[in-house]
Amino acid sequence: MQEKIQNLIGGKLCPPINQTYFDNINPATGEVYAQIPDSQAEDVATAIEAAEKAFPSWSSCGQELRSKFLHKIADAIEANLDALALDESIDNGKPLSLAKSVDIPRAVSNFRFFASAILHTHNESHYTEPIAINYTHRSPLGVVGCISPWNLPLYLFTWKIAPALAAGNCVVAKPSEITPMTAYRLSQICVEVGLPAGVLNIVHGFGASVGEPIVVAPTVKAISFTGGTQTGARIAALAAPMFKKLSLELGGKNANLIFADCKLEEAVATSVRSSFANQGQICLCGSRILVEKSIYEDFKTEFIKQVKALKTGDPLDEHSNLGAVVSEAHQQKVLSYIALAQKEGGKILTGGNAVKPEGRCENGFFIEPTVIENLNQNCRTNQEEIFGPVVTLDTFDNDAEALAKANATTYGLATSVWTENLTRAHNLAQKLESGVVWINCWLLRDLRTPFGGMKQSGVGREGGFEVLKFFSEEKNICIKL
Ligand code: NDP
Repeated sequence: MQEKIQNLIGGKLCPPINQTYFDNINPATGEVYAQIPDSQAEDVATAIEAAEKAFPSWSSCGQELRSKFLHKIADAIEANLDALALDESIDNGKPLSLAKSVDIPRAVSNFRFFASAILHTHNESHYTEPIAINYTHRSPLGVVGCISPWNLPLYLFTWKIAPALAAGNCVVAKPSEITPMTAYRLSQICVEVGLPAGVLNIVHGFGASVGEPIVVAPTVKAISFTGGTQTGARIAALAAPMFKKLSLELGGKNANLIFADCKLEEAVATSVRSSFANQGQICLCGSRILVEKSIYEDFKTEFIKQVKALKTGDPLDEHSNLGAVVSEAHQQKVLSYIALAQKEGGKILTGGNAVKPEGRCENGFFIEPTVIENLNQNCRTNQEEIFGPVVTLDTFDNDAEALAKANATTYGLATSVWTENLTRAHNLAQKLESGVVWINCWLLRDLRTPFGGMKQSGVGREGGFEVLKFFSEEKNICIKL
């Protein structure tokens, strides 16, 4: 009997009103293993109603109590870490080891971080000499919508929900319909720890039938969205005329700049990780590696050697470095980009094919880690987000060319720079059109820092106090003395 995922509405786990479900597929085996509610606008309306009802007491219960609830949720996620990691791996195809070491621990940190942050906020005061004092008052917005993608399911879902709740809002959230399982587990946890009814509501289903009704609901005051740039544009078009607050974390086409003076061993090893972690399905993955010409052959030789040593296979096997990509449709999309790259003149140095592991994963959606060279930066392969285990190699002669190539996309999410020259690192960091710049590292995250993209990679910043401000309405109160 397959598990039926339920919505969380008004503190209760419940089926969709139309009682209709669709299949949840394990991408590592291609088998249907659970059923997902095909919720509609009517379910969203019920969720919004529950959230509105919960808002007066949640927003006024004080940050200490909200903080305690967030800690309780974090404790429960932590206590169930192994089971949640297994759910995440089965639902998404990612290696179990990754879900255990990154996805689920980060979900715990998201709740803990904002449980603590909300106790350490401060409001500004401005003295207008000698006649007045102004102070900034922040209050929660009301009901807010959180919509998240499939690549880091619980990690990104909680990255929105935790600050929204901490700031005193009530939430209607939609996980990706492709990876809903850990969001459902979070629902169960919320019921178990006694989170007040309606404070968090989770509605499962498709973007058009669940996501859009959340976006256009007049009483939903803000939308925090992470996903593709096209979806972000659609959401912005719907929400902007309603003057909603919008936070959009979108796609990327990130560059990795490798200078001749870098610590090559570290640069290679980290570039392997930044290219292929989570099968390349992280918005922060570096998909364009740009190497200073004088060390290109050395870098390439060692990089290819290490990529060839990666094992793609059963996500539950602790020896697998890459698991399955998230779906058959996504596998086909990534393979079509590999074919396109060849048409554009690209030379495949390693990989390029679907993988059929023997045994239980023979019908799963796997792709070899793929490295391509001989493409210019203007071609589609280097301009469009592939979001899979595919990376291109290119060269540069000097800092100016490195910068120009790194910036030559419509995206602007993250860049890694590998150099031992501090002046160069600072100069480049200032000029890179990218919301995050890592010097001699990748994915080194501090949750206090502003996180987000420039250009078509997004609008607004998540993380730290930035996101608590996003989820609050600011008012200036001026007192004449
Ligand atoms: P999508 O944009 O397809 O979907 C993201 C979420 O939006 C899903 O829950 C989806 O629902 C929902 N959605 C789809 N259409 C609408 C709509 N019209 N209105 C409201 N909601 C809608 O992205 P993917 O899930 O494919 O995720 C991959 C993308 O996410 C990549 O582009 C990646 O770069 C980006 N991303 C960005 C990050 C960042 O921080 N900048 C981090 C991680 C990923 P459904 O269930 O139907 O899919």
